[in-house]
Amino acid sequence: MNEEKRTTQPKNNSVNYPAPILERIPYTVPINPEAKPYEPGYDWAAHGYDELDDNIEWGKHEGDFIIDGVLYCAHCHTRKQFVRDWNGKTFRLPIPCQCQKEALKRQEAKQNRQKALEKVQRYKELGFADKTLRECTFARDDGASPRYMQIMQRYVEHFRELERKGQGLLLYGSCGSGKTFAAAAVANALIEQGIPCLVSNFTHLFEKLTAPRAQRTMEIEDLNRFNLLVLDDLAAETDNKYIESMIFQIIDSRYRAGLPMIITTNLTKQDLLNPPTLAKKRVYDRILERCCPIEMNDTNRRAKAMQNNMLDMKKLLGI
Ligand SMILES: [Zn+2]
Repeated sequence: MNEEKRTTQPKNNSVNYPAPILERIPYTVPINPEAKPYEPGYDWAAHGYDELDDNIEWGKHEGDFIIDGVLYCAHCHTRKQFVRDWNGKTFRLPIPCQCQKEALKRQEAKQNRQKALEKVQRYKELGFADKTLRECTFARDDGASPRYMQIMQRYVEHFRELERKGQGLLLYGSCGSGKTFAAAAVANALIEQGIPCLVSNFTHLFEKLTAPRAQRTMEIEDLNRFNLLVLDDLAAETDNKYIESMIFQIIDSRYRAGLPMIITTNLTKQDLLNPPTLAKKRVYDRILERCCPIEMNDTNRRAKAMQNNMLDMKKLLGI
C-alpha cells in the first residue's frame, strides 16, 4: 500500500476503500454430503441451524461473498466483518455472523449444562454423610408406601415456595417405616435440580462440629449454605447437656436463618408434645413451628414389601 492511499479518507462506505481483501467468491457451491459445517458444500438446508457443529471458524469460507468491501457469510448472508477507519487506515475486523452467533450460544448452553452437571456431582459428594443414602431416589422406591412418597414428591415440586417460608417436614414414627428413605429421596431429587442439600444425622454432625478447631472442617453456620438440611434420627436419649445444647444450636441456627429442614425421628407424637426437659422443649417447639409433622407409623414398609412379594409369588405359583 502506498503512502497516498493510506492517508486518503474514504468519502462514504462504498468508495475509496483499498482493494477488497478477498475476491468475490461464487455464491453457489455444489453440495457435498461428507462436508463438515463451514467446509465448502456443507448441506446447510438439510441440517438446519440446530445441528451445526460447535466448531466456530472465523475465517473465510467458500461461498462467502463481499459487498462494499465487507465479507458476508454464504449461509446466513449477514456480515462477518465490520469496517473501521483509524488514523487514515481502513481496518476490517471480524464479527460473528448469524450462524456463528447461534453456534456461540449453543457452546455457552453446552458449557452451562456441563457446569450444572458438575455442580450436581459435587453436591452429591458433599451432601451425604452416609454415602448409601445417595441411592435413595424416587425411582428406586419399592412402592410400599405410595401415600408418603406422593407427599415427598409434592414437597419437591413446591420446594421453592416452601423454602421461602422456611418450611420443612418432621417425619416421625417407628423403625422400618421408610422415613430415612423418604427424606433422602427428597434431597436427591433437589440435588438433581442443582439445589444444594445436606443429608446428615446428629451423631455425624457432632463429630464434625466438635472436632478440635485445627481439624474442624465444618461450623454450624456452614450448614446454612445448604438450601435443605435433612437431619436423620433425632433421638430422645440425650441426657448429655452438651449434646442437648448442640442440637439446640443446630436447629436454632437453621430456624433463625429461615431455612427448611427435614427431620426424621422415632419419637412419638406424645414424646414430641410432652418434652421431658426444658432444653428439649425449646428444640421441639422450633421444629414443630417450621416442620409439618407427618406420622409414618401405620405402614411397616419392610413387612408390607415382603407381604407384597409373597402375594406375587403365591399368584405365580397358583397357591
Ligand atoms: Zn453465517
